[in-house]
Amino acid sequence: MVKKVVIVGAGPSGVLLAYYLLRRGDQYQIDIYERLNDPRVVEFSNARTYPISLTERGMKALNQIPGVEAAVRAVSLEMSGTFFHQQNGKTRVTSGKKSLVTLDPSSKKPLVTLDRTNLVITLLEKLTEQYDPSRLKLHFNQSCTEVDFATKTITFQPTAQSAESTDANLTVNYDLVIGADGARSAVRSGFLNTELFELEQKYVPIDYKSILLPRSDQPSDTYLESDKIHSWRNNDAITVLLLHQLDGSMSGVIHFPRRNTQVTDLTTPEAVLKFFHKHFPEVGQLMPPSEAEAFLKRPSSHVVTIRCNRYHYGDSVLILGDAAHAVSPSLGQGCNAALEDVAIVNDLLDEYADDWAGAIAQFTVRRKADAHALVELGDHSLPSSPKLFLEFGLREQLAKTLHRLFPAYFAPSLLELVSESSVPYSEILHSYKGWITKVKKSNQQFLEVS
Ligand SMILES: Cc1cc2nc3c(=O)[nH]c(=O)nc-3n(C[C@H](O)[C@H](O)[C@H](O)COP(=O)(O)OP(=O)(O)OC[C@H]3O[C@@H](n4cnc5c(N)ncnc54)[C@H](O)[C@@H]3O)c2cc1C
Repeated sequence: MVKKVVIVGAGPSGVLLAYYLLRRGDQYQIDIYERLNDPRVVEFSNARTYPISLTERGMKALNQIPGVEAAVRAVSLEMSGTFFHQQNGKTRVTSGKKSLVTLDPSSKKPLVTLDRTNLVITLLEKLTEQYDPSRLKLHFNQSCTEVDFATKTITFQPTAQSAESTDANLTVNYDLVIGADGARSAVRSGFLNTELFELEQKYVPIDYKSILLPRSDQPSDTYLESDKIHSWRNNDAITVLLLHQLDGSMSGVIHFPRRNTQVTDLTTPEAVLKFFHKHFPEVGQLMPPSEAEAFLKRPSSHVVTIRCNRYHYGDSVLILGDAAHAVSPSLGQGCNAALEDVAIVNDLLDEYADDWAGAIAQFTVRRKADAHALVELGDHSLPSSPKLFLEFGLREQLAKTLHRLFPAYFAPSLLELVSESSVPYSEILHSYKGWITKVKKSNQQFLEVS
């Protein structure tokens, strides 16, 4: 019998799941509903996007679908590590090149970096190339407002951008509904009415704002190796992260403790430029007045983390990706974990011969400890205190060296395990529990006083 699957959210996890299900055969008819406009047809909005890096876990989930990994790589750049520049432009000359690296910049496996929106566009393009509307229907500008688990119906409200914005709400039936609708999931809200469901939602005390530096043909003193992610931090734990883009521009974000209002207090383009020149001179040098103006207009965003005790309901509702376990972007794992979820669901459908009751119940069992561990790792792996951050750099360096020399006796470093392996997050947390506890305590003190 054909199962009518409604996927809410056309983000990376929702679109990849559609692929995996359609590939399983004719028994699945998929409808994806997305609150925003179709990213393939609207003008690219830099204000709404940010660069992400895909590591071992995410790429493994993509490469199981023929052609998808290659298509994603075609719009990505490979980075072989991160340069942590010293603040205030003080640099150390290394091999004749100006840079200061506090962490070993080399990774064994390159990171694949691209813009989140470009990832979604690529996945959608490949998906619609392969499957026609007889099995796959896409509905944009439709915001899920309610899921009724008892009657198996879901309601959507057309958004203002919808061509049919005067249309009334739409209520559809489903056999299965998948909440891939991100950190503020509407599908997850339906779980609140189910027995013994627990949800913990916490705001990370660090906010962020996007930065976009256009391609510059002007010579610059700043040494920005093109195959590295570049990062700067000041003593107030304000961090700038910049990634090269295919068109020669650089995009990234500035992260800042919410209690520190230096960034949100900026009110003129001149003040923005002054701020960057003072705190991140190398970034200030690359920022034209037009970007200072655009930066000012962009909103600051909060990051929320989510822990749930269950990701399924009966045999007909599942949440995954950020909807199930949103995490801090500090380790660059949210999307990787979301894509990994999809591959796990697919493995479980193999194991349970497409019996959804068994497969989705097992998804909760198999994923919960790792998802909770990832929230913990994201919150407390990287210290805010400059002193402890230096210690982190030294620990990483030492662990990498020891592991390279004596792999049988020394485990890889924390970042290597997170980014370059598929070791379950719960095992990584267990191995690095002492460090995580130390950072948690320090961050609480540091972020409270800063
Ligand atoms: C600054 C920043 C940097 C990051 N860097 C990285 C990184 O380097 N590596 C990494 O792995 N992760 C990174 N992440 C995290 C990553 O972006 C997310 O974890 C990932 O996008 C989650 O994918 P998803 O498909 O689960 O949800 P989302 O990407 O959030 O997609 C959910 C979709 O659902 C739609 N939606 C929401 N509500 C509704 C509704 N009611 N009805 C219909 N549709 C709805 C949304 O519009 C969206 O399109 C970063 C995040 C941030 C904020």
